[in-house]
Amino acid sequence: MSPWLLLGTLLVIEFVARLLLEIRERRLTQVSGGFFAVLRLIPLINDIVPLPENRKEPAENEFVKKHEEGHKELRHSILRNLAKVALLLLAVWLFAFLLASHGMSLVQSILWLHLAAIPFRTVFHLYCWHQEYEADRYAFEKLGKKVAKAAMRDLAECEIPYTKLFAVVYREHPTVAIRSQRILNKEIKAA
Ligand SMILES: [Zn+2]
Repeated sequence: MSPWLLLGTLLVIEFVARLLLEIRERRLTQVSGGFFAVLRLIPLINDIVPLPENRKEPAENEFVKKHEEGHKELRHSILRNLAKVALLLLAVWLFAFLLASHGMSLVQSILWLHLAAIPFRTVFHLYCWHQEYEADRYAFEKLGKKVAKAAMRDLAECEIPYTKLFAVVYREHPTVAIRSQRILNKEIKAA
C-alpha cells in the first residue's frame, strides 16, 4: 500500500468526523461557529485555531478567587506543564522515529504527528479537567454550596455554550454544565 493511501484515508476520516461534530454542535447549541468552525475542519490548521470560551470575562468573585487558590495550593500549573512537556517529548520522539526509521518525508511525518496528537490532546484535556474539578472542590469546601451555586450561575452567563463531546475534543476547561454537575450534582446552564 502506498504510504499516502493510509495517511490520506485517515485525514479524510478526520475531516468527516470533525464536520459531523461541528454539525451536531450547531444543532444542539444553536450557536453559530463562525469562521473558526471552518478552520477547525482543516488538518494542521485546526491544531492552532483558538477556541473562545467566554462571551464576556467572568467577574472576579469569592469562588473564583478560592478556585485559583486551589490551583496554587495543589501545584496544578507545575503538574500541567510537566504533562505538557512529557507529551511534547513523546511527540518529538515519534516524529524522529517516523522520519528516521520509516524514511518518511517531512510532510508525511508532520501529518502523522498531527493525527497521533488527537488522542493525546484529548487525554491532556481530561487531565486539565480533573484539575479544574479539584480546584472547584477546594473552593466548594471553603465556601459552601450557596456561594458555589451562585458562582456557577455567573460563570454560565459568561460562557459560550459547548456540548460535552465538543468540549473534550477542543477545550482545556470543562464547561460550567459539567463542573456544576460535579460539585453540585446539578447541571447549571445559562438562563
Ligand atoms: Zn481553574
